[in-house]
Amino acid sequence: MEQANHGHAASYGNDPWTQEASDLIRDIFETRCEVFFVFNGTAANSLSLASLCQSYHSIICHELAHVETDECGAPEFFSNGTKVLTVGGGGGKLTPDSIQRVVQRRSDIHYPKPRAVSLTQATEVGTVYSPDELKAVWAVAKSLGLRIHMDGARFANAVVSLGVKPKEITWQAGVDVLCFGGTKNGVGLGDAVVFFDTKLAEEFAYRCKQAGQLASKMRYLSAPWLGLLREGAWLRRAAHANNMAARLEAGLRQYPGVKVLFARQANSVFAEIPAPTVQSLWKMGWLFYTFIGSGGCRLMCAWDTAETDVDAFLADVKSVL
Ligand SMILES: *Cc1c(COP(=O)(O)O)cnc(C)c1O
Repeated sequence: MEQANHGHAASYGNDPWTQEASDLIRDIFETRCEVFFVFNGTAANSLSLASLCQSYHSIICHELAHVETDECGAPEFFSNGTKVLTVGGGGGKLTPDSIQRVVQRRSDIHYPKPRAVSLTQATEVGTVYSPDELKAVWAVAKSLGLRIHMDGARFANAVVSLGVKPKEITWQAGVDVLCFGGTKNGVGLGDAVVFFDTKLAEEFAYRCKQAGQLASKMRYLSAPWLGLLREGAWLRRAAHANNMAARLEAGLRQYPGVKVLFARQANSVFAEIPAPTVQSLWKMGWLFYTFIGSGGCRLMCAWDTAETDVDAFLADVKSVL
C-alpha cells in the first residue's frame, strides 16, 4: 500500500496494481477467472450470490453459515429477495444428502426455486471440506441444477490444511464463484470475488458500483494483495495461523474442564470453557466471541499470533479454571 501511495494512477480499477493483482490470482488458480476487489466479505458474498440468483430463487447453506447468521440479510437484500434455506450437518458442513433433501422437499411453484449452494471453506467451525467432499457436493448440485458459491474468508487456511492446489478445491470441484478472503489473511482491507464461470461476471462491475463497492482509488484495495501473493506470503501466513491454532488446541485438550468442540483443521478452535473462566479471561483482556459459530468460545489464530500469545492464553486459562 505504501508503494502504491505515490503520484497518481488510473481510477476505478484501471491501474497497474489492480491488473497485476488480478493476474496473480489467475496464476494461483491456473485459469482465466474474472477478479473483482471489494471492501469486505459481506459484500463479496452477497453480491456474488445475487449474481447467481433471481429474486424467486433460493440459496442453500449451512445453518451456521456467515451468509445466514452474520450478514444482516445482505444476500437477500442485494438479490432482491432470494431466500436463504439453511440445513444442519456435522462439523459445519453441507452434505450431498442434506442438499438433496432440502431441494426435493418441494417441487411446486409455491416454494422458492433452489438455485445455488453456498459452501464455506474453511467452515465457520474451523473444519475443511476435502476435495472428495466438494466433488460429491458438485455431483448433486449438477444433477439438481444448482450453482456453487464458496465463502472463502479463510480459503488460504483451507488450502494449507489440505495441502492441495487452489484449483483442486475450486473450479476443479465445480465452484462457480469464490469469495477469496484478504482481510483475515493480513491485507488491511478487502476481499476478492473470483468468478470461474466468467459468464457470471459479465455485469458484476455494475452490481459492485450500485452497491457502493467500486473503489475509486482501487489501488489501495488491490496493491496489498501483491505483497500477499507475489512470493507466497498468503500461504505462509495461513500455515502459521493454522499451526498456532494446533498449538492452542493441543494445550486446551490438556485441561479437563475444557471441551474442544470440533476437530481443528484450520486456524480456529471452538471450546466450551466454564462461564466464570470466560468472565475472568475477558477481565484479563483476552478478546474472543462466544456467540459466533457454534456457541462455544471462538478462539481464532491469525497470521500474527505468536507462540508466546498462545502460551500466555493457555497459562491464563489454567490459572482461572
Ligand atoms: C469474516 C467472515 C466473512 C466476511 O465478513 P466481513 O465482516 O463482511 O468482512 C465472511 N465469511 C466468513 C465465514 C467469515 O468468517
